[in-house]
Amino acid sequence: KNANGNYEVTLIPGDGIGPEISKSVERIFSAAQVPIEWESVDVTPILRDGKTVIPDEALNSILRTKIALKGPLATPIGKGHVSLNLTLRRTFNLYANVRPCKSVPGFATNYDNVDTVLIRENTEGEYSGIEHEVVNGVMQSIKLITRPASERVARFAFAHAIATGRNHVTVVHKANIMKLSDGLFLQACQEVAREFPQVEFDEILLDRACLQIVQDPSHYRNTVMVMPNLYGDILSDMCAGLIGGLGLTPSGNIGRDASIFESVHGTGPDIAGLDKANPTALLLSSCMMLRHMNLNSFADRIEDAALKTIAEGKAITADLGGKASNTQFTDAIIAKL
Ligand code: NAD
Repeated sequence: KNANGNYEVTLIPGDGIGPEISKSVERIFSAAQVPIEWESVDVTPILRDGKTVIPDEALNSILRTKIALKGPLATPIGKGHVSLNLTLRRTFNLYANVRPCKSVPGFATNYDNVDTVLIRENTEGEYSGIEHEVVNGVMQSIKLITRPASERVARFAFAHAIATGRNHVTVVHKANIMKLSDGLFLQACQEVAREFPQVEFDEILLDRACLQIVQDPSHYRNTVMVMPNLYGDILSDMCAGLIGGLGLTPSGNIGRDASIFESVHGTGPDIAGLDKANPTALLLSSCMMLRHMNLNSFADRIEDAALKTIAEGKAITADLGGKASNTQFTDAIIAKL
């Protein structure tokens, strides 16, 4: 909290549709009188000693506030570029990525009973960035799994299960095939489960989990899934598809040195600058952030206004089947507050 009694939060508006949806969140927070002051920073990467790094101003802001809301960042494809998202995860030790997907009441999709919570290990696995050419025409990518990172994310999953009243953890893995790497992840989860006898624990293979979720997502209403990095990336987008797409799904990167909340979707290059983006994913991420800060009543009020606006269907954006602009949708949410 600063001298004005407000919490300082770093805001990374991001690229593409990022600044538009960030503006929308800022307007809604201001209308709801959330006791937050934003410190807006630019994280355009700079090269230092041949490495891509985050500008000091942004780094220092997050180190000081310990909490940030982030719009999507564009990652150029090709040689020599390090993903900025990966850089942020490494810099702040953002070890657990929490991705909830919940059906929006009143917004019809093929499923109306989705309520999944998925925790993705965020620092290693296939995202370790260790790749090389063995010989011409043969590439190798190392999937790195370590005991400390596996135990850390498992412990977080159990704590999250208790905090959210789900009281059940399901580890999703492929230890039948990747016996050593996923085997270690599974073993770490089994061991951590013994520290939490009050929480139920079970295991499922990734392919079975995918099948079960699309057949009947209600199986996963009362559990917290935890899994290695790549599985979490893919499975969370699948869950997003069940509730109406990426415009609706929030996420939180919980870390040792800071926590960063962001929408799951990217920079929407096809609609950037057109006032067409749906700000809900970033707005729901900001509500996760408020709950992380124990500002639950503000989160409840904002979330309620957003979900009611979607359910009414009068002022929703094109990705949800409506005709409203981002600005009109934001105005409708503010009118409900
Ligand atoms: P994308 O999520 O940006 O877009 C996929 C489709 O979904 C597009 O048609 C887009 O218009 C639509 N969409 C996404 N968000 C929307 C929203 N809020 N409202 C309405 N429609 C929305 O994925 P992409 O095109 O594969 O990636 C574009 C860029 O984003 C790439 O540079 C990628 O690296 C980056 N990216 C960043 C993040 C992140 O920062 N966390 C995540 C994913 C992708």
